[in-house]
Order: sequence, then C-alpha cells, then structure tokens
Amino acid sequence: MQDQDTLLVVGAGHAGAELALAARQAGWAGPIRLLGDEAELPYHRPPLSKAYLHGEASRESLLLRAQAAYEAARVQFEPGARVQALDTARRCVTLADGRELAYAELALCTGGRPRRLVVPGLAADDAPPNLHHLRTLADADGMRAQLRAGVRLVIVGGGYVGLELAASASKLGAQVTVLEAMPHVLARVTSERVAHFYEAVHREAGVAVLTGFGVARVERAPDGGDVRTAAITAIVGADGRAVPADVVVVGIGMLPNVELAQAAGLAVDGGIVVDEAGRSSAPHVWAAGDCTAQHSALYGRTLRLESVPNALEQARTVAAALAGKPMPARAAPWFWSDQFDLKLQMVGLSQGHDACVIRGDLARRQFIAFYLRAGVLIAADAVNRPGDFVLAKRLVAQAARVDAAQLVDESVALKSLALA
Ligand SMILES: Cc1cc2nc3c(=O)[nH]c(=O)nc-3n(C[C@H](O)[C@H](O)[C@H](O)COP(=O)(O)OP(=O)(O)OC[C@H]3O[C@@H](n4cnc5c(N)ncnc54)[C@H](O)[C@@H]3O)c2cc1C
Repeated sequence: MQDQDTLLVVGAGHAGAELALAARQAGWAGPIRLLGDEAELPYHRPPLSKAYLHGEASRESLLLRAQAAYEAARVQFEPGARVQALDTARRCVTLADGRELAYAELALCTGGRPRRLVVPGLAADDAPPNLHHLRTLADADGMRAQLRAGVRLVIVGGGYVGLELAASASKLGAQVTVLEAMPHVLARVTSERVAHFYEAVHREAGVAVLTGFGVARVERAPDGGDVRTAAITAIVGADGRAVPADVVVVGIGMLPNVELAQAAGLAVDGGIVVDEAGRSSAPHVWAAGDCTAQHSALYGRTLRLESVPNALEQARTVAAALAGKPMPARAAPWFWSDQFDLKLQMVGLSQGHDACVIRGDLARRQFIAFYLRAGVLIAADAVNRPGDFVLAKRLVAQAARVDAAQLVDESVALKSLALA
C-alpha cells in the first residue's frame, strides 16, 4: 500500500486534535485525517468530573474547537472510526468497518480507559445499571442521569477524579461516600499534609471519606434476572463493613490504550515508548498523550503522564518534528484539579521528596506546598495561589536549589528566588 503524503492521526482527544491542527499550522501540506472512535467532535475531558457534571458547563462549551476550525485547517475528522489493526510494514491501518487506510506518517493518540474493579460479586464484563466509570462524555451523561438530591453515591477511589466527582455530586445534593484503600486520599500524587487538608474540606462539605477501606466484595440486587446486569446494592470492605449504594462510580485510575501499538510490534513499557520528539520504535509512527511513555530529562526516568498540558505539548512537539521545525520547549509536568472553591495546581512530581514546607495558610485555604529533595525544588502544590504557581513552575523547571526557610517566609518574594 502506498501513500506519499497523508498524515493519519488515531484518537481524537486532546492530543490527537491538537496534533492534527498543529501539523497543518507547522506546514504539513498533504491530507490530514483524524480518526476518533467516539461520536463527538474532540472535547475537553476535565469538565466531565467538574463543571459539566454539576451542570455549570454546557455540552457546546466542551468542544475543543468548532467543526469549522477543522474544515478551515483541512483536517478530515471522522467520528465513530475505530482503528483495530496497524501494519507498519505496509504502512496502513484497518478500521473496525473493514476499511484499510494508508499513511505516510501515523500518530497514535489513543489515550486510556478506566481501570475496572474486579472483586467477588463483580466481574470485569459485568454491567450493573448503577455502576459507572468516567472517561468519556457518554460516561458523564450516563452518570448525570442518575445523580439527584438524596441519592447515595459511593465512589471507589480517592484520586483526583474521585474527589472532583464527590465535590460535584455533593453540589447536586447527593449523599456521597468516598472509599479509599490507602491511608489517605490522593496517595499517589501528593503529600499527607495536602491530602489531609482535602479530606477535611470534603468532610466539612458532608462527604464521608473512608480511608484504609479495601473493597472485599460487592453486593448485588437479587432480581432473579441476569446476574451480570443486577444492580449493586452495597460495597463491602475487608472488615465486613457494608456501605449501601444507589449509584457507584469506580475511579481507580486508567489503563493506557497500547494494544494497537503492542500488536504491531512497537516498543511498549507501561506506555508506547517515544523519544523526545514523539517518535515510536517503528519508522513513520509517532505517539502523543496519555498513551505514551517518555524519558524525562528533569526526573531522569521514563514517565507516563496523564494530563492535558502534557498531551498538548507532546502533540505540538510531534507536529513540529513532522514539519522539520525546531521542537518547542518542554515545561515541567503540571496538572490542575477543581474541587468546591479550591483551585489546585500542581507542578512536578513530589515522590521521593525529603522535605515538604508550606507557604501560606491552610485554614484560609490559600497556600502552596513545596517539595524538596537534597535542597532541590522538585514539585509544588498550590491551592488558590495562581500567582505563586506561575513562579513555582519556573523554579521546578530550573531544578532550582532553594532555601526552605525562604520559601515559607512570605516577606521573601518568590519572584526573587525564581530570578536568583
Ligand atoms: C474526568 C476526568 C477529569 C480530568 N481532569 C483533568 C484536569 O483537571 N487536568 C488535566 O490536566 N487532566 C485531566 N484529566 C486527564 C486528561 O483528560 C487526559 O490527560 C487527556 O484527555 C489526555 O489526552 P489524550 O488525547 O492523550 O487522550 P484522550 O483524551 O483519552 O483521547 C484519546 C481518544 O482516542 C480514542 N481512541 C482510543 N483508541 C482508539 C482507536 N483504536 N481508534 C480510534 N480512536 C481511539 C479514545 O476513544 C479517545 O477519544 C482528566 C481526565 C478525566 C477522565
């Protein structure tokens, strides 16, 4: 199969849409096809657990770009187009409907899917009508239809998505319980101090946060019908405690969609392995976004990041490389999370820190936690401190060596440390 000039982008999420448009802007002259297996134009995923879920953001406001933007850039977007096989030798993909499409260059931007909870009483392919996961707009719509005042919502998993959902659902008047297996929420991403702050905020708002709660089994309604579709009535912990549920959301992380790449023989190591330009191990195949694993010069190890800023940066890098343009500068990894009146912005990775110091006031809900390792600033979590966050981003990207006492001293301007 021969195609000299088509750029094929598989996956129409944040990375795919950005890559297609940025490639055109960078000068890719041939056809660009953007294939997505969802029904919608590419949309913002973060509001699905936040403003969209509690009704403050409309469906239209979720779109990354209007249809006209793709047309103007001559990007041919195909919804409902699932790629199920990749042949790197023949340089073509096969779609679920049997069509074969050839490419000159291919970009895999396949993102990820929610990890499922599998315990006694719940098999991986069971489909109780009151069990939800959250990755897509369709998932959010299904969940929203069941969230009403008074409904007992049980969220398995106290990560960002779980806590954002808890905040949104409690705004809707649901009785929310969060079950977290670790000793505190947000265990994989932040320090105990910040996690305890978030637990307190949720409890104050009426959310029951049960930590150290490992799910042992699930109770289902004895409806006499198909056991696979019987509703969940309670989640039971290892200590035998049963938490009754009308609606259950499982938010225990995601699995990257790497199977297509793996089956085609590309190197996969927790994600599709890419170099600094986004090139995979196969010629003419690139990848960007949540599905990739990439070496980080800043942290000296391979990372698979799950964030919009990373998806956009990687997409722009691939677009530049495809057009032979210089690579845009990379920022330190960053992320945000909105819960209640709290705007949390995080930069860097705090794992392995040997000191955590706080500037500001937890009680006033305005502070920034700095994480250091051997005197070097490796990460920061800012709550309602957007100005400080901008400076912290700069300091983390510089791997700045800073004095912890100066970081917490509000009379020392962070700007002076960033300039030093
Ligand atoms: C509820 C929620 C809240 C979030 N909040 C934040 C936040 O506040 N801040 C933040 O930075 N990040 C947030 N994230 C993470 C962020 O959304 C992801 O990092 C981002 O979407 C990654 O973009 P992506 O393009 O790599 O993957 P995705 O956005 O997942 O897009 C991948 C697309 O590829 C499609 N696809 C997969 N396989 C195929 C195939 N074989 N053929 C065709 N199409 C395929 C998928 O269906 C999907 O549409 C949130 C995520 C969720 C789910």
